[in-house]
Amino acid sequence: MLATKVIMDQGVHVEGINFFTGFCVEGHTHAIRKKDQSKPKRNNALWVAEQLGIKLHIVDVIEDYKNVVLNPKHGYGSNLNPCLDCKGFMVAEATKWIKANNFDFIITGEVIGQRPMSQRRDTMPVIQRESGAGDLLLRPLCAKLLPPTLPEQEAWVDREKLFDFSGRSRKPQMALAKKLNISDYAQPAGGCCFLTDQAYSHKLADLWQARGKRDYEIDDIMLLKVGRHLRPKDNFKLIISREEGETHFLEGYRKQFVHLRATSHTGPLALMDGSYSDEDLTLAARLVARFGQGRDADLVEVEINLVDGGKQQLSVPPLKSEEIPTDWYL
Ligand code: SF4
Repeated sequence: MLATKVIMDQGVHVEGINFFTGFCVEGHTHAIRKKDQSKPKRNNALWVAEQLGIKLHIVDVIEDYKNVVLNPKHGYGSNLNPCLDCKGFMVAEATKWIKANNFDFIITGEVIGQRPMSQRRDTMPVIQRESGAGDLLLRPLCAKLLPPTLPEQEAWVDREKLFDFSGRSRKPQMALAKKLNISDYAQPAGGCCFLTDQAYSHKLADLWQARGKRDYEIDDIMLLKVGRHLRPKDNFKLIISREEGETHFLEGYRKQFVHLRATSHTGPLALMDGSYSDEDLTLAARLVARFGQGRDADLVEVEINLVDGGKQQLSVPPLKSEEIPTDWYL
């Protein structure tokens, strides 16, 4: 928001690009969960574009982004976040986009030293080089600490009016926001994607291990954001809704998965991912019973719907909490 405003204030026409990778935090989990309904929801990219009065292009990169997540040349951060490769990829996509759409250069809000992986003095040139953007990539907030880019050399922008921010502190940005009369903005250190989340990364690593290959489809990564995930056995896991909004979301996947729900008591919807024996179905039913209103009952009726349309009805004792090892929770 700041980088854009600073450049717009120099009379340059700016449009925004937002890449949709499937791992974005915003506008998904919050929209699904019923308990969060009172909180206003916003997609920050759209909101920021609206505040700035600029056009925003949302670009779906789900397929091409897979290679970034699965094979990051520069490795991962503290979780499965391939930030350096990710930034390089996005700037490369932006470079292609500006060429196809007759724009002259790219700006980002990066600041030297702000992030441990992708925004270090030694990695910022890597993004520039590997993306192919070269001197078309201008970082207005720290431009004075970097060699002049083409827009500065050509005087399309005045380098003197750019900044020399560095480090993790957001104080200079906050002061600039104040000066520019920007009072509402996204959480400064808010995570932008689920790959930086430890619990999410653990579930993704589990998915790869269970499938015996490192790959994913968009539905896989969406489902990792929703519900309670338990793996009682190597061959299957359960995704159990935690509240009504999640139940509605998981209902959309009923045809693709074996799904279970208690019929004698109110309870969650669970999807079963993997292969199973009759014994596994009983164990799954007992777990589903455990997370519903019948958890203290002697027996709970659970309906199991198979993918081929077949149904089974089991009457099972709910598992007790001490019967659920903590390592079943992903
Ligand atoms: S946090 Fe996610 S979206 Fe942001 S740079 Fe890292 S991998 Fe990319």
